[in-house]
Amino acid sequence: MKKTALPKVAYFCMEYGLHTDFKLYAGGLGILAGDYLKISKELNLPLIGIGILWKQGYVEQFIENNGFLYDAYHNYKYDFLKDTGIKVKVRIRNHDVYCKVWMVDCFNNAPLYLLDTDIPENEDRWITGQLYGWFNEERVAQEMVLGIGGIKALRSLGLKVDVYHFNEGHAVFAALELIREKMEYKSMDFKKAWKETIKEIVFTTHTPVIEGNESHSLELLMYMGANNGLTIEQMSEIGGVPFNMTIAGLRLSRAANAVSKLHGKTANKMWKHIKKRAPIISITNGIDRKTWVDKRIETAYLKGEKLLQTHNILKKELIEFIYKRTGIILNEEKLLIGSSRRIVPYKRNDLIFTDEKIIGGYLDSGKIQIVLSGKGHPLDDAGKKILENIIILTKKYPNSVVFLENYDMTIGKFLTRGSDVWLNTPRRPKEACGTSGMKAAMNGVLNLSILDGWWAEACIDGINGWQFGNGFESNKIEKLDKNDVDSLYDVLTKKVLPLYYTDKSKWEAMMKESIKTTYDKFSADRMIMEYYDLMY
Ligand SMILES: *Cc1c(COP(=O)(O)O)cnc(C)c1O
Repeated sequence: MKKTALPKVAYFCMEYGLHTDFKLYAGGLGILAGDYLKISKELNLPLIGIGILWKQGYVEQFIENNGFLYDAYHNYKYDFLKDTGIKVKVRIRNHDVYCKVWMVDCFNNAPLYLLDTDIPENEDRWITGQLYGWFNEERVAQEMVLGIGGIKALRSLGLKVDVYHFNEGHAVFAALELIREKMEYKSMDFKKAWKETIKEIVFTTHTPVIEGNESHSLELLMYMGANNGLTIEQMSEIGGVPFNMTIAGLRLSRAANAVSKLHGKTANKMWKHIKKRAPIISITNGIDRKTWVDKRIETAYLKGEKLLQTHNILKKELIEFIYKRTGIILNEEKLLIGSSRRIVPYKRNDLIFTDEKIIGGYLDSGKIQIVLSGKGHPLDDAGKKILENIIILTKKYPNSVVFLENYDMTIGKFLTRGSDVWLNTPRRPKEACGTSGMKAAMNGVLNLSILDGWWAEACIDGINGWQFGNGFESNKIEKLDKNDVDSLYDVLTKKVLPLYYTDKSKWEAMMKESIKTTYDKFSADRMIMEYYDLMY
């Protein structure tokens, strides 16, 4: 940690998962940002968050009786928002759009300032309507509110900032406002203003999946006014053609990072061809223990007590929770595998069901019980297909395959503390980091995962959990999937099941190792200190 006064940081993010019912989050990015603000407050660091007050949050997703997915949206109202009395104006599509600025600090979090366009002055009240709900014009408008509006809010609030941290590419238009300020008020030319702005920005990239790196046509950005006074040539110099938000982030920042060691390698390979960009280092994500680790298991661990008894209480609570949600009663004596994540093909949420000749018998006998959760993007048909397949399996094995609809922080909490095993099946190296496995690990829930994201640096195979797939990578999806599913069945039937059913004391020893090897290393404390030391 630097000895001099710490730099003041403004952290920009599209989503924040601060509380299960404060619906400003969709998934991992938001959970990370929420944890970041909490740990920042706990450590008394000079950091504030900038985000958007989403009127309808992210999609709510339910399963109808016929097995089909049903998307729902609600208008949310929160009574804990503080009115800053400030409104800023962003010029979007040649209209003035007013953004009201709210402040939230009631979740033991660093102050979070939220922009909101749902006020009577606006025709475009719906810009801050749905998180990731729309594409193209709507998405660009949202990103202009976050970026350009965010900088203007900081100015109106009179908050001094030394470092602007763009958490993912959504915020890069903020840099165009920083450039504009310098050109307008300090008479710098574009090149000089860009160079000076770079000194103030750091950038975190979050996805090794190419489609996850959003880009927009330059014509669209010019039409929307996202260029913020820059010419089309200047815009293409920053973000390329089409304008890629990640490339822009890399060219607008002095330092950039990926979110695990393996992701750092992947990201450097992915963006190797991009000239004049920030170097990409690795800072592995971490989690806020206060939010995610059950106090009882944590206390038992810290006191050096036995863990299984406490674990069984947590498992019972999960089984009770599942009963309340679904009417299904799972068996507390039998192995319970949990797995919840965004439903998208590369995560292979249904990989474990690939060969029913192998897995079917265990499901029939109840020797393996699997509880899954997750949302598919409303517009992703491949994801919805996976979910529909899972729903069919819940009907075929009603007492051992369960799906919890409408995944949120509450489900995440119950599952990552009450399961026996935490299953993670992404196609390596597509998982940037993953944090649900950390939550599980610190609760003594043993990870059974592909060596991807954080697990590639945490796994001590057979000691603190298990890996499967042996780190194999291939562009041939069928070959990769075959390798991984064979390996999964091998580890599951030869290592996990025998241990669970015949050697509880070794199981308990692994639980202890799981907590011991992750407790500090994957905590948000360690993470944010690395950001202060290496990035800010
Ligand atoms: C922890 C968490 C995530 C992120 O977990 P991954 O391992 O990255 O999938 C996403 N959504 C919720 C609700 C969570 O609690």
